Amino acid sequence: MNYFAGLDIGSTAIKVALVDEGGRLAGVHVTESGSLFHKNAKEALRMLLERHGVDREQVKYLIATGYGRKLFKEADDSISEITANAIGAHEAGRAFGGVRTIINIGGQDSKAIQLDDQGNVANFAMNDKCAAGTGRFLDVAARNLNIDLEELGDYHFNGKGAPLTINSTCTVFAESEIIGLLANGHGKEEIVAGIHYSIAKRTVRLAKRVGIEDRVYFDGGPALNKGLVAAIQDELQRELVVPEHPQTTTAFGAAILARNEFFAESD
Ligand code: ADP
Repeated sequence: MNYFAGLDIGSTAIKVALVDEGGRLAGVHVTESGSLFHKNAKEALRMLLERHGVDREQVKYLIATGYGRKLFKEADDSISEITANAIGAHEAGRAFGGVRTIINIGGQDSKAIQLDDQGNVANFAMNDKCAAGTGRFLDVAARNLNIDLEELGDYHFNGKGAPLTINSTCTVFAESEIIGLLANGHGKEEIVAGIHYSIAKRTVRLAKRVGIEDRVYFDGGPALNKGLVAAIQDELQRELVVPEHPQTTTAFGAAILARNEFFAESD
């Protein structure tokens, strides 16, 4: 059996996806990017293949994407994360009846992408200048609140009072604001919900710049946070499509393209 791989070397996490000849997802693996992008990417691929009993020789084509894609010289090709995300979301979105807008929140940037009805990128907008509105903001907040990232969703729904307003638009100032709110006796739950709404408002502003059409697909690591999903749905006044593996959509898109390029070349 032949396989095809997509390797998404993100600023915060490395994601690998493997698809079979039919383009079906065979497995995913996620690990921290750390400072040794190339070494960690190779190790992530090795671990995924080992877990699924696949030899490296069975991987006939590999496409790298993401922030660190140029570092992975062994790749057969590389593509931008916008293109890979579009392909992955279009493919995964079929099960939900098709998607036309993608909201992606990553570790250090966020994007909104509009797709045409063929799944091609029609328009996109990106915020990579400011950490507020990205996963980094959530990482810093969780650390300040002394809770795990995975717990943010539960805190969001367990507040007794209304979500607090977080006024700071910069992560560094938001850090002091959070510490100030804690010092004034506010509950972590209301602070967490406030942080989610602050990110949600920024995200919806970004999405409106490209135009919002149904269905709206939400991916990237922060899409694993159910509290953030709820806050964005609230601000957007629409349901979001959140796939089973939101963090690996871009890697999946690169793997799908790897499969398609392989068959196109061997035609
Ligand atoms: P990038 O591609 O820029 O490296 P990712 O899409 O991999 O970014 O997202 C990384 C972010 O995902 C982290 O900064 C973190 O905030 C968030 N994240 C990762 N895992 C979880 C989780 N289990 N629950 C909530 N958030 C998560």
